[in-house]
Amino acid sequence: MYKRITVKIGSNVLADANGGIDLQRLGHLVHQMAELHRHGIEVILVSSGSILTGRSELRLAKHLDVVSSRQVYSAVGQAKLIGRYYELFLAEGIHCGQVLTTKESFETRSHYLNQKNCITQMLAEGIVPVVNENDTISLTELMFTDNDELSGLMASMMNVDALVILSNIDGIYDGNPSDPSTQVIRKIGRGKSISQYIQETKSKFGRGGMSSKAGTAQKVADEGIEVIIANGKRNDILTDLILEEKDVLCTRFEPAEKESSNVKKWIAHSEGFAKGELRISPKAVEAITAADVARSLLPIGVVSVTGEFEKNDIVRICDEDGNYIGVGLSRYDSRKIRQLAGKKGEKPVVHYDYMFISDTNH
Ligand code: GLU
Repeated sequence: MYKRITVKIGSNVLADANGGIDLQRLGHLVHQMAELHRHGIEVILVSSGSILTGRSELRLAKHLDVVSSRQVYSAVGQAKLIGRYYELFLAEGIHCGQVLTTKESFETRSHYLNQKNCITQMLAEGIVPVVNENDTISLTELMFTDNDELSGLMASMMNVDALVILSNIDGIYDGNPSDPSTQVIRKIGRGKSISQYIQETKSKFGRGGMSSKAGTAQKVADEGIEVIIANGKRNDILTDLILEEKDVLCTRFEPAEKESSNVKKWIAHSEGFAKGELRISPKAVEAITAADVARSLLPIGVVSVTGEFEKNDIVRICDEDGNYIGVGLSRYDSRKIRQLAGKKGEKPVVHYDYMFISDTNH
């Protein structure tokens, strides 16, 4: 039985046929989460739907550009959405609380730890955190790719046992979902890449799509957390999956066995914040990916450096052809690495404690 889970609810799950909020669905989902809560399972909810709600609520007097309308819709929509959650949880005898965050809040370790502390204390008080991006201020390049990415960061930060991503389809299909012979892939084994199956259909109401869900899921599973992609429109989906442990139709990503340290978890999700890239030699790839021993990345293994970054910035680590190997915290700034690249006997560029190697075969 799980002790702590993250549940992500996408806008598509909450949308009704007219593009408004389906209050019945919302109530049903809250009821299920309350059931989990009563069984002693801590739930961290990541809910989309602020923009959807705002849009269905408002008739703007003036035509606004995409950015401004997003800000206005989310400001109003989030207020209504959290209000609904608050009332629905309270009717179940549970308090929930709002946590709004931005990508920037995950970039520095101190902000990251502040957020973690807030959610830890809420959970200890029996309060359900309802997390969303602060869409009023996170714009363009400062945005999370989508709430799937945010839910992955939350799952990893809070060290949950499972991340359940609820969407409006049953899981990841092995072909085009509209083709009758296509089936849901029930289980994705450790370190298996499923990119060949992903059909890029963008979500109607949210920003995410299947490839971003799969990307997040693989990353989180790489860290040792089980990920389930399931249909949030299906009744009793959460209780069936989590409490009854029924064999519900969904896609499960088998978690890696390794236990990552907290710093490594943070680094694993920092790829999006990487300020530069290091390409490394085949020998260095072999050294840092060795399964039996943890090795740091030495300057001798660095072939080239892209981007300008400071000491302690996050960098992507790739092989000579640019294939992604992992991410790490650089102990030197980019200028210094350029000087040291290929040299013997220098201190590591990325220490193994501050490096995350992906398990997925790309
Ligand atoms: N934060 C956005 C919202 O609440 C959703 C982002 C997404 O679609 O993933 O509307």
